[in-house]
Amino acid sequence: MRNRTECEKKEPETVAYRSREELAKVAKELKDASPSEILRWGTEQFGSSLALACSFGYEDVALVHLLMDIRPETDIFYLDTDLLFPETYQTRDRLAEKYGISFIRVSPRYSIEEQANRWGEKLWERDPNTCCMLRKVEPLKRFLSGYSAWCTGIRREQSPTRVNTEVVEWDDNLKMVKLNPLAFWKESQVWDLIHAHGIPYNPMHDRMYPSIGCMPCTRKVMPGEDPRSGRWAGTAKTECGLHNRSSQGRKRSTVRHPGERKNSDQEGIQ
Ligand code: SF4
Repeated sequence: MRNRTECEKKEPETVAYRSREELAKVAKELKDASPSEILRWGTEQFGSSLALACSFGYEDVALVHLLMDIRPETDIFYLDTDLLFPETYQTRDRLAEKYGISFIRVSPRYSIEEQANRWGEKLWERDPNTCCMLRKVEPLKRFLSGYSAWCTGIRREQSPTRVNTEVVEWDDNLKMVKLNPLAFWKESQVWDLIHAHGIPYNPMHDRMYPSIGCMPCTRKVMPGEDPRSGRWAGTAKTECGLHNRSSQGRKRSTVRHPGERKNSDQEGIQ
């Protein structure tokens, strides 16, 4: 695995600016394109300034597989919160072996112990928004500051907050282009691809975990339940903050430190 540290921070390449209008036009043109065609468009447009986010969930492993036929040298990164399941790391290692990938590990500024010292033990139980901000959102922003576009495995049918996802769009939070090649795919299409090509996937998916995040915030999903109901169960939280859209009314993302009050300009991403 590669670790991306501050001193290795990548400088973004200069790429042609794309307005929201241009991106909306491209999204319309690519709406019926295959995920491979969308990935190809992204790699041709952005080259080494495009990075693929991989959480090792089933959508992401499918994208990793497709990318190998298009631009295998593309940077593929994962957010290591230090709280991932052992099966997730095993999936990472199986993919790395099959495809010869060196995944980039992106880590939080604070270890679990440092976080506990500053924000208290088990922050995820008391304030999951701040925990996600510290362990996912801030590291993502820091890492992607060296790129012009990122690619994700989110799909429209995953949750009500994702129903307006376009295959290509402007990411208001990160101020960069976002590719979602699987936006219009159904779950069964992703699994068909995985099984047809023997793509390694997280075995927890076979044990009633359709969506897998950090250990403290992921539980099994019973038949008939929403696939993402196993994430932050028992709370109103449905997203970690990586895929929030401006239309959801979110403001600037910040990390609140202990004792710091929220005000109208500071709203933790939810
Ligand atoms: S998913 Fe849970 S443990 Fe992981 S960063 Fe978010 S709140 Fe913290």
